[in-house]
Amino acid sequence: MSKSFIDLALPSVAGIQPYVGGKPIDEARRELGIEDFVKLASNENPNGPSPAVLDAIASAALESNRYPDGNGYYLKNILAERHGVTPEHLTLGNGSNDLLELIASGFLDQKRSAIYSQYGFLVYELAIKRTQARAIVAPAKNYGHDLKAMADAVEDNTRVIFIANPNNPTGTYLPYEEIEEFLAAVPPSVIVVFDEAYVEYVKAEDYRSAESLIDTYKNVVVTRTFSKAYGLSGIRIGYSISHPEIADILNRVRQPFNVSSIALAAAEVAVAEQAYIDASVNLNTNGVAQIEDGLQALGLKIIPSVANFITFEIDSAIEVSQELMRRGVIVRPVASYGLDNFLRVSIGLECENRAFLTALSDVVAESSR
Ligand SMILES: *Cc1c(COP(=O)(O)O)cnc(C)c1O
Repeated sequence: MSKSFIDLALPSVAGIQPYVGGKPIDEARRELGIEDFVKLASNENPNGPSPAVLDAIASAALESNRYPDGNGYYLKNILAERHGVTPEHLTLGNGSNDLLELIASGFLDQKRSAIYSQYGFLVYELAIKRTQARAIVAPAKNYGHDLKAMADAVEDNTRVIFIANPNNPTGTYLPYEEIEEFLAAVPPSVIVVFDEAYVEYVKAEDYRSAESLIDTYKNVVVTRTFSKAYGLSGIRIGYSISHPEIADILNRVRQPFNVSSIALAAAEVAVAEQAYIDASVNLNTNGVAQIEDGLQALGLKIIPSVANFITFEIDSAIEVSQELMRRGVIVRPVASYGLDNFLRVSIGLECENRAFLTALSDVVAESSR
């Protein structure tokens, strides 16, 4: 064979790189031979799942020989009541990442384009390019989304706009008023996706979920996840709220059993555990203040964040992240976002945040010696 498989692959696929997430603790253990790591690299909830969720997972596991309910009847009913919509407005996914891809699969191909923001969540680029659609990157404003620039970027063949609100990795958010203005300016033929993976953490008064806009603007899709505040990253479950006609399209392109029975059972219980969410959000609010103060004390510039992570500016970011790793702390370089001199740190437990700040202050002191 003379050609390599990358030449045989679709050009759109050859042009993308595999997503590199935060380094898993096991991998760091294997590579560095250090036993204990503080992982603040993937915006996970530092609290483990609640006992009730663990019980639900154990019970569901007993029936692992059966296929899951492919329509997620119980979970959709619980979520429908919670959001004041019908089950037909909901689509379940193997993480909310699944939904982002389903939207791309249902609406994009090589004749169409989709828009995301500079510094916007990397999965949008991957989801768009996989369909061979053209990815249009709108310039950012103060590290966040510039909705005016995004609306201006719409072309005749644009079918999807992806917006992370709050955004990862910058922690920026869009006020509700700006979203309303934006939707009024975007043609109704463009699906506007509001990825609200971090919605539970946001305290800003002018922030509101876009879910209240799906009746007025039938082109709006809101995605949510159980991976962050609900503490179930490893279980893989998320959902979207949209007009039922959009949900119908997503249902046509999804795998018949894209959500496992264990994930359904875990989410059915987790969704009702308000005390767990409240505790997680409180922990996060305190942790944000702790890490902000610590970074500022080191003279480092942060991007103000409303989510469960903070991205800060630091010279030689990659080397610093490696030095932190040697001290048992895993953070996330964000050079793949074009943020070369930045690192993203997720908010952990109070002691984990402290371990991070101590290690970072060591690294900074050493490098200035
Ligand atoms: C973490 C994250 C998600 C969630 O991904 P899941 O597939 O639900 O785990 C979605 N969007 C953004 C912006 C994220 O940071």
